[in-house]
Amino acid sequence: MLSYRHSFHAGNHADVLKHLTEVAILDYLLQKDKPLCYHDTHAGAGLYSLQSSQAQKTAEYTEGIGKLWHYQPQSPLLGKYLDVVKQLNPDGELNFYPGSPKIAAMLLRAGDQLQATELHPSDFPLLQSQFLQRRLTRIENIDAFAGIKAMLPPLVKRGLVLIDPPYELKTEYQDLIKGLQEAYKRFPQATYAIWYPVIERHSIEQFIAAIVATGIKNQLRIEFNLHADSPGHGMTGSGMLVVNPPYTLAQSLAPALSEVQQQLGNPASHYQIMQLVGE
Ligand code: SAM
Repeated sequence: MLSYRHSFHAGNHADVLKHLTEVAILDYLLQKDKPLCYHDTHAGAGLYSLQSSQAQKTAEYTEGIGKLWHYQPQSPLLGKYLDVVKQLNPDGELNFYPGSPKIAAMLLRAGDQLQATELHPSDFPLLQSQFLQRRLTRIENIDAFAGIKAMLPPLVKRGLVLIDPPYELKTEYQDLIKGLQEAYKRFPQATYAIWYPVIERHSIEQFIAAIVATGIKNQLRIEFNLHADSPGHGMTGSGMLVVNPPYTLAQSLAPALSEVQQQLGNPASHYQIMQLVGE
């Protein structure tokens, strides 16, 4: 049963980390004058109203994008990310927040491919409606891992695959590792960006260790913890595990995350960027 709806969480601190990383990777890939493919395995609804009853109920965005909205960034990457959100809110009020496929669509060139899978029966039509005018776009209402088999490798042999499950079920951790291995076998040139929550430190370290144990080379770990580890108190932070990161990724994210920590954080907040497996 699919009970997770991203509309309750859009724009929270985890989205800030995930989408900053996405912008950094796409920004690097877009420097080359060759088409790329963006593939989003768990795409969500694409665009979120922060005035919706769901967003207002949790108000999670007020602890994320809400704290950056009036901030003047120093780091070019944080500036690019905030510009994307500003484009959707031209009157200067923070009313809308983009999901990962929408961010990609706003950055990609007309000749780049966009692919996404989303299983939820209510979020899928919302997602699809965002991309009706876009060519070179394939949006499917199928399981993420069926999508990996059906849609990868793409015709163009460079790109980004974002893997962002809701982790509602314990089995999703193992499924992700199998899905990553399958995708990597099909499309080894791609950059893979996997989001993970920090809820219970020991279990997440086991999950990371299992990804490292796949033997897939060149893995970078990026993590932003809003609070100190605290089992039983929900999500205290989140991370991105990036396979085949652009060589500029750590360098561009570090100053952006330092500013995010200053704006969102508290004395217990911290971030880390660490090469887990070499090239
Ligand atoms: N990536 C989105 C973003 O950053 O804007 C948010 C995605 S949200 C964390 C996870 C999404 O995965 C939900 O919309 C959920 O309906 C969808 N989902 C859950 N299980 C799935 C599956 N097996 N295959 C495809 N989508 C799935």
